Amino acid sequence: MDELVSVSPADPRDEIGRFPVADAARVDAAVARARAAFPAWRDAGLAARADALRRFAAFAAAREEELARLVAREVGKALWDARAEARLLAPKVEATLQHGLRFVAPIEGGPGARAAFHPRGVLAVLGPFNFPAHLPNGHLVPALATGNTVVLKPSDLAPAVGAWLAGAFAAAGLPSGVLELVQGGAETGRALTTHLGVDGVLFTGSYAVGRALREATLDQPGKLLALEMGGKNAMIVLEDADLELAASEAALSIAATTGQRCSSLSRIFVQRRVEEPFRERLVRLLGGLTIGPPLAEGTFMGPLVSRAAFDRLARFRASAREAGGEVVLCREAGAPPPFVGPGLVRFPGLAQRHPYQRDEIFAPEAALYAVEDLDAGIAAANDADYGLAAAILTRSRAAYEHAVGRLRTGVLNWNRGTIGASGRLPFGGALRSGNDRPAGILSAVYCTFPQSHLENEAGFDPSELPPGVPRP
Ligand code: NAD
Repeated sequence: MDELVSVSPADPRDEIGRFPVADAARVDAAVARARAAFPAWRDAGLAARADALRRFAAFAAAREEELARLVAREVGKALWDARAEARLLAPKVEATLQHGLRFVAPIEGGPGARAAFHPRGVLAVLGPFNFPAHLPNGHLVPALATGNTVVLKPSDLAPAVGAWLAGAFAAAGLPSGVLELVQGGAETGRALTTHLGVDGVLFTGSYAVGRALREATLDQPGKLLALEMGGKNAMIVLEDADLELAASEAALSIAATTGQRCSSLSRIFVQRRVEEPFRERLVRLLGGLTIGPPLAEGTFMGPLVSRAAFDRLARFRASAREAGGEVVLCREAGAPPPFVGPGLVRFPGLAQRHPYQRDEIFAPEAALYAVEDLDAGIAAANDADYGLAAAILTRSRAAYEHAVGRLRTGVLNWNRGTIGASGRLPFGGALRSGNDRPAGILSAVYCTFPQSHLENEAGFDPSELPPGVPRP
């Protein structure tokens, strides 16, 4: 049987584990177990489901450090960053129970009219490698709270973290079959997501795979697809901005998680008059970030997740000049691949035609453009195929408010970078970033379907009959 061999990207000698790949028959069996468990889990009621989820939260809160170290080893995320991820798991439960479920509360439609939200059935959750615990968890908790059963397929680059997560739910005493785990890559993912016994797919990953999922399920229109995909995120820096703040937020947004966040910053539009002082500050910061082993306490950024990700970045970097850019910074990592240093490329004009300028590179690499004013910055930022996150750096609330709604993104931050998100707000994007099913606090919405009812408790009332209908 095929197996996934999980090796740390920071150290090829560090083998984390081996995980059997689920073939179509195993996927079939996992879906069948989840389907068999569904009616009892749906009918168990919210109180029983909330108890189980709270036991999971207690388990996860008590083992944050263990999880953080596993994330750091398996995907190369620096420990501070992995700890921040591990801290997000437990709070998701109360955020869902106390706030998220409000969005699927019963609707009163006047006398004799109401609607209620019901679980869809068996949901598949597909995770990405970059937040291998937090993002699957962000789908699992609302899916389970609303009464669905789930088959989880973690990223093939993070099977150990996926197994840890499934183990944490098992330790909370979920009834058998309520959460099934299958390991594998594209083939397992395809078998699971196209399975006729799966009622919905909650996916976080790249646009290419999200697109493939849509294509593969075209003949299953009843299957819910909630797609959280990539970004080509922009920051606008106006001339009245605090440049220390702007450069610091830009550097963190470019390089945190080694540029491998859906919300990572990859395009900066700075007002021409402050371009030079902003650029100098940004280059100094990017040049000074500590690159090193993910498990070392002082490390800011670890390696990219894989040699393939390293080669992909190298291809983009090699094309920057052909795209019309001038390389401002291309820092050496001081360690073998897939370690990388941050890069910055300046473009003289605002045309964004080349794949370097339009595709998600998913590495610490950003393009810098000069713009004349805010409206030019908004137009340039909107010249994109993705619409996930944007940021505006200005001391003027009015300028920020002007950008609100005009920038076509699911997230728009003011005097904060593009990364970071509140668990109490929606999170999702436009265009290639999503399919208008935002996650975050709204996840419970796509985990359910509404059923509307007109009710008659009073019995037959002939006076309500239309004219022309015989009375008794
Ligand atoms: P990916 O698309 O390569 O993989 C995502 C998942 O899909 C994995 O579990 C993978 O095994 C599976 N998969 C791959 N091919 C498949 C196929 N043909 N059919 C079914 N499943 C398949 O993504 P990744 O590299 O793990 O993660 C990085 C991407 O995720 C980036 O594009 C990033 O922007 C995006 N992301 C988005 C968000 C968000 O909330 N919008 C958050 C994090 C990451």
